[in-house]
Amino acid sequence: MEKWKKILNSCISDSATLSKYLDINKEEADEVIAKYPMRINTYYLSLIKGKGDPIWKQCVPDALEIKVQTGKRDPLLEKNHSPFDGLVHRYKDRVLLIVSDMCAGYCRFCTRKRMLGTRENVLQEKIFLKALQYIKQHKEIRDVVISGGDPLVLDDNKLEHYIKNIKKIKHVEIIRIDSRTPCFLPQRITPQLCEMLKKYSPIYFNTHFNHFQEITRESRKACKMLAESGIVLGNQTVLLAGVNDNAETLKKLFEGLLTMCVRPYYMYIPDAVKGTYHFRVSIAKAVRIMKKLIGHTSGLAIPHLVIDLKYGGGKTPLLPNYIIKHKGKRYTFKNFENEKFYYADIS
Ligand SMILES: *Cc1c(COP(=O)(O)O)cnc(C)c1O
Ligand code: SF4
Repeated sequence: MEKWKKILNSCISDSATLSKYLDINKEEADEVIAKYPMRINTYYLSLIKGKGDPIWKQCVPDALEIKVQTGKRDPLLEKNHSPFDGLVHRYKDRVLLIVSDMCAGYCRFCTRKRMLGTRENVLQEKIFLKALQYIKQHKEIRDVVISGGDPLVLDDNKLEHYIKNIKKIKHVEIIRIDSRTPCFLPQRITPQLCEMLKKYSPIYFNTHFNHFQEITRESRKACKMLAESGIVLGNQTVLLAGVNDNAETLKKLFEGLLTMCVRPYYMYIPDAVKGTYHFRVSIAKAVRIMKKLIGHTSGLAIPHLVIDLKYGGGKTPLLPNYIIKHKGKRYTFKNFENEKFYYADIS
């Protein structure tokens, strides 16, 4: 059996086993797990350096998940933009195909918390055929995002089956893969997988690192292998209270990602999902953090800060405001160092 499959098979999902490794309150953990399942793989577990550290917070159940009742199960109303389960068509020219509801571990802050572990669902072949049919009929779709859960919990053959058939559709220009495995289970990125993906270039791959403690020898190797196979790597970070909600931590993360050929793409304000409220960061704070990053590190290290608006409003960018006054053609700016500048625009 491949190493990554062994690690996946030995995921920890009960408090008794977890308490052998970590100092947790078992009763509390059990109450949370009854509502929101736990799944921690041993690789990710090994990254924990101390109680309550940024890795711990992302994977160990917290009583606050059930104590705080604020939020919705499905705040984005993805359901309203699904022609059928398994496909989300929110933006005209791109669709998101959900191929599995399993992940290489469950994140406590997950937006799709409502779906995880409820059933071990992979996309059924008849639904996939329906999705192919749908994409074929909608000629405006030029970008297909293969997502989940995590698509890379599927084996190479299954994944290739999806990619190959989507790629056959003429108007589909690019395929994207969303997977947390380079961070969560870097052993999943094998030479065989890279060989397979390479055939379907251009492939854009968005991974999901939230903290520099996740940058390890193994994750570096995984990203390097993907990059060397011609896959363009981006990263989506979720801004999480107590995990990464300060400019210094994020700067270290984003600069670290660039050293392994991963370009920060998005940083999300956490969605208003029930059971994840203790991770929320205010918009004002998020914008202040962006202000401390822009101009203070490579532009390449700066992701777009976005908020996914409720009820299917879509991803919407948030930026610090650099224009402080504007009268006719005359603009007053504050630059990244808070110095004042004037600028006269063309008539
Ligand atoms: C995020 C998302 C996409 C991709 O959006 P980009 O801004 O192009 O990265 C597509 N479909 C859905 C439903 C999404 O949530
Ligand atoms: S890997 Fe992604 S989909 Fe899976 S639990 Fe984590 S955030 Fe959710």
